[in-house]
Amino acid sequence: MNDGTAQKVSNALLSGAAGVASFLFSLAAFLYITELDKQIVASLVAGAFCLLISYVASERPNSESARALTALAERLLAVEDGDLTSPAPAILRETNPKLAAAVDSLFEEVRASIENAHALGMYDPVTSLPNRLHFRSEADKMLSVAGGARSAMLFVDLDRFKAVNDCLGHARGDQLLVMVANRLRVVVTAEIGDSALPRPLLARLAGDEFTLFFPEIEGLAEIEMISRRMALAISEPFQLQGHSIDIGASIGVAVSPDHGSTVEGLMRAADLAMYRAKARGGGQHCLFSEELKREHQLRVETEQALTDVVPRGQLRLALQPQMSLTTGETTGVEALLRWQHPRDGIRAPATFIPIAEQTGMIGEIGDWVMDQVAIILSGWRRQGVKRRLSFNISPRQLDRVDFFTRLRHTFAAHDVPLSMIELEFTETAAMQCSESDLAEIAALRAEGASIAIDDFGTGYSNLARLRSMPLDRVKLDQSLIAEIETSEKARVVVQAVVHLIKGVDCEIVAEAVENSAQADLLRAMGCDTVQGYVFAEPMFEDEFNAWLANADGKRSVA
Ligand code: C2E
Ligand code: CA
Ligand code: CA
Repeated sequence: MNDGTAQKVSNALLSGAAGVASFLFSLAAFLYITELDKQIVASLVAGAFCLLISYVASERPNSESARALTALAERLLAVEDGDLTSPAPAILRETNPKLAAAVDSLFEEVRASIENAHALGMYDPVTSLPNRLHFRSEADKMLSVAGGARSAMLFVDLDRFKAVNDCLGHARGDQLLVMVANRLRVVVTAEIGDSALPRPLLARLAGDEFTLFFPEIEGLAEIEMISRRMALAISEPFQLQGHSIDIGASIGVAVSPDHGSTVEGLMRAADLAMYRAKARGGGQHCLFSEELKREHQLRVETEQALTDVVPRGQLRLALQPQMSLTTGETTGVEALLRWQHPRDGIRAPATFIPIAEQTGMIGEIGDWVMDQVAIILSGWRRQGVKRRLSFNISPRQLDRVDFFTRLRHTFAAHDVPLSMIELEFTETAAMQCSESDLAEIAALRAEGASIAIDDFGTGYSNLARLRSMPLDRVKLDQSLIAEIETSEKARVVVQAVVHLIKGVDCEIVAEAVENSAQADLLRAMGCDTVQGYVFAEPMFEDEFNAWLANADGKRSVA
């Protein structure tokens, strides 16, 4: 044997031995954490040792058997990706049929043992991790054994798993779950490998949700570090059959006794914290807190109370005028929703509209707004006033197939021409709405309604759509206006936006204009209309009428 061959053989031997050792290590970690049938551990460890011994005893290393050994090591390592079914490598079968047969029978035994465990209904068939039921009962036992020790519960929810299932199919999705489970195991094993602390329990609860229970932890800092490492580990791309897949995970952390003293309580707390991590953009962990709990309670309360705000008559509309910067006249009015809450008093829309949108209550609330707008307008019409009234439309309202029919019907029933209304869609909603909704909006506009884009400058505008959209007005968001007095850059941006909007033939309304210096600057930049505290705050109808009489009086005196 020449030197080069000797080197290769010794490398192969080394990598083969390392492969078997690593296989044993990962299986041991896997089985230790999942606490899968102890028999499997025994049979695997014995089996793998037999392989190694039979190799050492029966083979004189040559380059072919070295390659066979490398192939064997690779096959064993594939267990990390969940492969318990592929046969022994062909080259091993040729060079050492006995060893190949031993490998095949070892895997057969493993599969039979796992199937046996699954048959008992305690393990998830995809990842071989304990399932929800098994996790609950095991964690319960561990918590009672831990006595008063500090325990931690981690909820791990994948951020973009659904897209993998949708695009690559469920089989690939399952493979990815196995890989995720392995990365989680590796982090845990690396973090607490040598410590004397009891082993954590890893489980798959459902879909793309994993959970970890640490019966005893050293402290918060340690568990936060583990959570951070897990988020980092899952944020690394996964290589799945030629695809590089980016998912990321949101992790919620709860510790006993501070956040709960039962498995159930800890799971609830960790779940809440996980949702917060997701709301912050995902790819990170969040520790449960009392503040989170209060916010959640408030949210649940709001959700419940919202279900009957309409029948209880707790909603009101505030009206805020819009003033022409050239004539000083009130050219339009925006209707803004208020909740007359029995305990909290007047609540601003930001405290309940997002929740109403998520629960679907926005449909009923939006209908109420539309009705009230029609009632106000029919009053104005009777008085011979031809003022336009704008109201806000949530994208969720457009999901209802009868939205546009209902709208026409509402205003017709109050004998209000559509030329008196303006519909405001946020920039994001306008850019995302479907072609069929756009066609409906165009039809409404052809019948006289005005269309405005709201909060311009907060989303991403598609310039082609901006040009083709049926549109009358664009409302500049307050974030664009806020610094125009103090920042040259802010002025340059607003000026550019004004040119852009004028270029597509739309009127410009600047929102949240708070002082006359801002109004003067906007006038000089070519802005048509302002809405803001400088001119008037939103008011309920009586106050609004009084304000209007006063404003008209002032103008006629001037
Ligand atoms: P928006 O449509 O952008 O409404 C303008 C917001 O700016 C209003 O807040 C208004 O009170 C506030 N504002 C007006 N002038 C000034 C000012 O000079 N300075 C400052 N800082 N703010 C000013 P509001 O009434 O709290 O409404 C917040 C948001 O809630 C609205 O933003 C709108 O997106 C939503 N909203 C209000 N009413 C409805 C509704 O009936 N339906 C739906 N879907 N959303 C609504
Ligand atoms: Ca608006
Ligand atoms: Ca706005």
